[in-house]
Amino acid sequence: MFCTAGVRAEVDTSEGPCRQCGGPTEVQKSTKHRVVTLEHGDFIAHETIRVCSARCRYPSGQLVTRRSESLSLKVSSGGVYGYDLEVYVGLQRFVHHRQREEIRGELVQRYGIDLSSGQVSELSGRFLGHLEALHCRQAPALCEALASDGGYPLHIDATGEDGRGTLLVAFAGWRRWVLGAWKVPTERAEFILPGIQSVAASFGFPCAIMRDLGRAMTEAANEFVRSLKDPIPVLACHQHFLADIGKDLLEDGHNQLRDLFRNVKLLPHLRAFVRQQGRHLGVPAAVHVPQHEGLPLLGRQLVQRPLHPVPQVLALEARVGAPWRGGRHLFQRNVPVLPLAPH
Ligand SMILES: [Zn+2]
Repeated sequence: MFCTAGVRAEVDTSEGPCRQCGGPTEVQKSTKHRVVTLEHGDFIAHETIRVCSARCRYPSGQLVTRRSESLSLKVSSGGVYGYDLEVYVGLQRFVHHRQREEIRGELVQRYGIDLSSGQVSELSGRFLGHLEALHCRQAPALCEALASDGGYPLHIDATGEDGRGTLLVAFAGWRRWVLGAWKVPTERAEFILPGIQSVAASFGFPCAIMRDLGRAMTEAANEFVRSLKDPIPVLACHQHFLADIGKDLLEDGHNQLRDLFRNVKLLPHLRAFVRQQGRHLGVPAAVHVPQHEGLPLLGRQLVQRPLHPVPQVLALEARVGAPWRGGRHLFQRNVPVLPLAPH
């Protein structure tokens, strides 16, 4: 790997006119700063900054300046890490689901770029911010594509982890594009409606709304449709519908299963099982696995672990299954069941 760390690079700044008044510019100063890009590695950029001879200023009060065109395409003003590095980290993190340590390892090996895990997080966050800005800026083009399909069915759904708020997502059904995503404090119509409205404002009106059966979604969708000149159909998602029916149909069985678990004190056994699995994590097994260069420690350990917890599962099943083999039939045995382990 060719290492450029510390190499000085002169970057040109054109003598073009002031972007505000069109008048001439002159050299204001030259600066030296560290820049890291995938394309060029780690180097010191020597940049000449030009300023409008008439000293034009932006509304913020800052002088209108010209930076090097070639450098400003690679890195933000005053920034160290280039856009190509940011995009690489973002894609690895969010498209390929790589861990920060994996990304760090690969950057060192392939590009000779050494980032801290904090910097990987920082670049991932910046990537998302820029992606969102790009998404918004390209809304007219996306809107045009959706219109050429004859509109789009707007799928809305919310998901949440305990105590972490709720993530509301708006999705264009046919194209499978996420049009918007918002963190909302709770799943209530007053938080959902603005999301639907902003999607409609940016991407055009949907031709239908697909929602779950929750009260908040129902209210928000109905209110949005009432605001339209031409009404659109509001559809209930089939999967949510089946899940809802399934809950009603299986409630008795589910309660029985829960009672069974309670009666045989299954939970302590399951916890012990999990602890036991945890202890075995990281113990190399005798199975031969090709060495994966650069595969981080945890990944390698997972690959090398023997994935045969069957004896434990069978032992567990023997304990759980004992009551019905002993004649106390908590389950109707003539009902089809999913065989989890052979008896
Ligand atoms: Zn000017």
